[in-house]
Amino acid sequence: MKFYSKLIWGLLTVTLAAAAFDAQAKPKKLRALIVSGQNNHNWQVSHRVLRLILDQSGIFDTDIALTPAAGGDMNEFKPDFSDYDVVVLDYNGDRWTAETDEAFLSYVRKGGGVVVYHAADNAFADWPEFNKIIALGGWEGRNEASGPYYYLINGIPVLDNGAGPGGSHGMQREYPMHCRKADHPITKGLPDNWMHARDEMYDRMRGPANVRDLLYSGQTDPRTGGSGREEPLVFTVDYGKARIFHIMLGHCGPTLEDNPAMQCAGFQTLLLRGAEWSATGKVKQPVPSDFPTDKSISLRRSYRAPAR
Ligand code: ZN
Repeated sequence: MKFYSKLIWGLLTVTLAAAAFDAQAKPKKLRALIVSGQNNHNWQVSHRVLRLILDQSGIFDTDIALTPAAGGDMNEFKPDFSDYDVVVLDYNGDRWTAETDEAFLSYVRKGGGVVVYHAADNAFADWPEFNKIIALGGWEGRNEASGPYYYLINGIPVLDNGAGPGGSHGMQREYPMHCRKADHPITKGLPDNWMHARDEMYDRMRGPANVRDLLYSGQTDPRTGGSGREEPLVFTVDYGKARIFHIMLGHCGPTLEDNPAMQCAGFQTLLLRGAEWSATGKVKQPVPSDFPTDKSISLRRSYRAPAR
């Protein structure tokens, strides 16, 4: 073989080997869709933060679907949910069209992944099927007709059909999170108790209450306006083949910089693990080195996990 053909052959071999190595080193990213555009919360910041957290993890490739503003023409809002491994709901606003409702239900019924984030569980109080997808919701006129309250007495979940409004919370504060199922892929390896950064703690939530696995609860404080009960905060939902992860944490602050509930390393870890589990049924992420302890909170101001 002449020198040049040997050289070209050599270069080609190296290039092919490098390409094969590259394909091995970089697993295909999971496709996430964040739905936002209306909320009684600061959705302008929250949907950007959710995307930062998901994309900076290196696990997700995230798109955003924004609805028109309140009162706008909802016919313009027609995301193709079926293109995605997980749909992250950051939406609380006008009803979608019947066509979009049906597309979303079809995606979920076929085993789609869904993350219900914070005030997304305020949405659509009058849409029964949506309420089965979130299991528990609050505000927007919810009451005993929406389903029972679900809370814990001595660590045991109870359903309470008593009359009263659904959804409230006390003053924002730092609070301990209590693990209720340590062997779930989402919680595995995380401490049993850890301190969450300043956030709302939702309470008195009610709905069909079809909780599959309760992962974390928190003790509300009646002195700061809470229900006084141990309340469900993070859980999966029993809804056919779908994998639904509901996280009530993460009240969005006024700016990207002033946003402790979403800057909490614990919140971000749960969001990422819950999103991966919703997308695949598995969690491959290790426990990050900056995870909060039972004594102290841990903030990621840039929404980025420490390098491993
Ligand atoms: Zn909030």
